[in-house]
Amino acid sequence: MSVFGWSLPPGCHTLPGEELQYCEICGEDENNCICPECSVCGEAWGDPQCYELKPGGCGLAKNQDQIESHKKNTRLWEEQAIAEQRYAEEMIREKMQPAS
Ligand SMILES: [Zn+2]
Ligand SMILES: [Zn+2]
Repeated sequence: MSVFGWSLPPGCHTLPGEELQYCEICGEDENNCICPECSVCGEAWGDPQCYELKPGGCGLAKNQDQIESHKKNTRLWEEQAIAEQRYAEEMIREKMQPAS
């Protein structure tokens, strides 16, 4: 190992406690969740259980906004995952190159 053997650049890790929870229904983070309060159990944001029809769920129906929002965010996550993947590959390639 060389003294330059850093593994990840700073800012690449999410610090514990800084991680936001993402709503599984609308895909927004907990501060921007658009889901209405559950009329059955009173859950303030999109709990997947509230949208389950089986026993234990509240049987709520998602509205169009929630569906659209989830679609949009899923696409963003996918793009992010691809970008991260590319970045990781880039890093590996860079490391394989002989130091000049
Ligand atoms: Zn939500
Ligand atoms: Zn509920």
